[in-house]
Amino acid sequence: MQRSARIKIDLDALTHNLSVVRQYSNKAKIIAVIKANAYGHGMLAIAKHLENKVDALAVACVSEALHLRNSGIDSVIVVLQGFHDQQQLDQCFDLNLEPVCHQAWQVDLLSQQGANKPLNCWLKVDSGMHRLGIHTSDVVTLSQKLSDSSAVNNVRLMTHFACADDTDSLLNQTQLDTFNECQENLEFEISMANSAAILSIPESIGDWVRPGLMLYGASPFSEKAASAFALKPVMALTSHIIAINSLSAGESIGYGSCWTCTRDTQIAVVAIGYGDGYPRHAESGTPVIIKGQRCHLVGRVSMDMITVDITDLDGSAEIGDEVVLWGEQLDISEISSCSTTIAYELLCNVGKDQ
Ligand SMILES: *Cc1c(COP(=O)(O)O)cnc(C)c1O
Repeated sequence: MQRSARIKIDLDALTHNLSVVRQYSNKAKIIAVIKANAYGHGMLAIAKHLENKVDALAVACVSEALHLRNSGIDSVIVVLQGFHDQQQLDQCFDLNLEPVCHQAWQVDLLSQQGANKPLNCWLKVDSGMHRLGIHTSDVVTLSQKLSDSSAVNNVRLMTHFACADDTDSLLNQTQLDTFNECQENLEFEISMANSAAILSIPESIGDWVRPGLMLYGASPFSEKAASAFALKPVMALTSHIIAINSLSAGESIGYGSCWTCTRDTQIAVVAIGYGDGYPRHAESGTPVIIKGQRCHLVGRVSMDMITVDITDLDGSAEIGDEVVLWGEQLDISEISSCSTTIAYELLCNVGKDQ
């Protein structure tokens, strides 16, 4: 089934963004995060491009890792949620994965396994996000249990920031201090930083960094564009014009008739909508690019179409002309802030079937 919306993936931009990660990360090893279909960019294509350029790949769950292994990816794979049961733990051994242990029962189960082929594993500490991670008071005991086990090779410690995208948040320093306090007398390698921390908290770089969003060329900060960090968008989302209509002042457009022309208006109908993952809540005024120029969405987003005011376009638009919804000339953050969401969600939504 071919709809009109297209995703273009620029792998050179991905390579470029990886070099930006390196600039910010000293000599830290890099775990490229490719969960959720590589943020909608297509997990396999991204994994193949990155496998020899980074130190590890990270996915959320064992089934994503299985897909990578079945497709011939043999890099180190970190499983961020770890195993959910014994069967998935068996798969971690079979597939040579590096699970994250974030609950004491996972540590117990893993450390009791037979020793034929020990795994590297990650112990995740809750330093203040209160989602995944063991309590700081259990770090010594549980890390010891893992490193004593013949089923485990290297143990590393990690934590995750709740508010790294908010550089003013006091929680960032609190989490850094909390994590450092519990790991500084232990000998393990550490990992703290996601994209936002890589770009804004130099003390969080540690031994391993875990970039996701920035690899794809988007900014994790609402108030700072990707270009401020020289990041280049990997994904472009395009479609084309399927109708052009002339409306008079006073006529309204689309479902709910919620946008009314204040002047005689040229409207281009573009074949993309929330059925393609374009956000339904994109408000009137959301930018799109036609003929290299910024125009604005007006009226409500439909399932398969949006309407765009092209009255002020320099030169005339025609049926079939390409429309860029985000990409090189249009930072996805602009679209996410016009639709009260984040770039992460937009990327995942359009790229579900990539
Ligand atoms: C998704 C994820 C990352 C990557 O986060 P970005 O904000 O996309 O850089 C890093 N670490 C963990 C534990 C994650 O779940």
